Amino acid sequence: MSSLANTDPEVADIIEMERLRQTNGLELIASENIVSKAVLETTGSILTNKYAEGYPGKRYYGGCEYYDIAENLARDRLCQLFGAEHANVQAHSGSGANMAVYFSTINYGDKIMSMKLSEGGHLSHGSPVSFSGKMYKVVQYGVDHETERLDYADIAAMARKEKPQMIVCGASAYPREIDFKAFGEIAEEVGAYCVADIAHIAGLVAAGLHNSPIDVLPFTTTTTHKTLRGPRGGAIMCKQEYAQVIDKAIFPGLQGGPLMHIIAAKAVCFGEALKPSYKEYCKQIIKNAQTLAATLDAEGLRLVSGGTDNHLMLLDLSDKGLTGLQAENTLHDAGITVNKNTIPRETLSPFVTSGLRIGTPAITSRGMKEEEMKQIGTFIATVLNDIENKEKIAAVRKEVEALASKFPIYAVTE
Ligand code: PLP
Repeated sequence: MSSLANTDPEVADIIEMERLRQTNGLELIASENIVSKAVLETTGSILTNKYAEGYPGKRYYGGCEYYDIAENLARDRLCQLFGAEHANVQAHSGSGANMAVYFSTINYGDKIMSMKLSEGGHLSHGSPVSFSGKMYKVVQYGVDHETERLDYADIAAMARKEKPQMIVCGASAYPREIDFKAFGEIAEEVGAYCVADIAHIAGLVAAGLHNSPIDVLPFTTTTTHKTLRGPRGGAIMCKQEYAQVIDKAIFPGLQGGPLMHIIAAKAVCFGEALKPSYKEYCKQIIKNAQTLAATLDAEGLRLVSGGTDNHLMLLDLSDKGLTGLQAENTLHDAGITVNKNTIPRETLSPFVTSGLRIGTPAITSRGMKEEEMKQIGTFIATVLNDIENKEKIAAVRKEVEALASKFPIYAVTE
């Protein structure tokens, strides 16, 4: 029996129940993944025991000699992975990484221009319920309502009119490639800072499967737990000239002691992402997303923008008379985890929505390929096309469990 099961059976039971949920179901949440055992082991290591305020070589606590090695390793590997000049790996989260970029560049009350949350952006890009919308004036671009893609001429026109101090590009729910160079040119023309938030697509950028903002923009933020397949956390990359202000914005500006067990796990994740097998993994994520999208399309479900270039797709359920909330709950009953999501021209609240966001990073980590995507597409369509049919949902759940059992969650990423 593990020591946790001995000392706190209540929590041990929760972990076991969640292990079974992850093992027996299909995780299709686009922002989630399944970390390697090496990452898992590092996050649960003794590195959690110590304070290490400061940065390598300049700490405010004694005894940090091994922590310095770990943090330098994480920084060096991240720079190598993306070709960045400077990396900060202490940000506890993606939102904190964005906050640090704003704090080190613009002033309270300045103007941010970013993508609408309802059309794919993120809360930390200026939503009124987030610090970013409370501290800054915010103007937002969306997607073109015909193509459902970003229109760079429209974005440039908005930038010229609004003259923001900061332009944010990057998204949480945009299935198409983002042209970071175009954003850089727009920002340069209007004299704005520009940050690319690549939280979702970081793995694809690292693998060279999506264009990179690193050389064309001064700041790039990311989370480490989505396509990158690392521990939960954030990171910032920037040009050398901003290294000091970014580091100061994170510590002592926003955070105290770094989570050194997480930073060491980030090093492990970046090391994994530098291996050739990671590029193959990312290629498979995209192939899987495109196969799943094609299957859903063939089953009569509408995909926002008609398909996907990356790891995710958005389903528009409005013509089926379904809400995202209904679809999320019913697919959950069938053992498939997805999240409801607003879509362009959304008419419903963010808690109800007309859409679903579906992503392939986690099921690709389990080793699933195109054949399984076709099956999963059929499972989803079977449920959504007959949402009141409890027998059908129960039958799909059995098939989901049978498929999941062939791909144990740590078989491939070990
Ligand atoms: N940026 C984008 C584009 C995201 O999608 C997310 C999370 O979903 C974040 C930032 C925030 O990351 P965190 O949840 O670590 O604050």
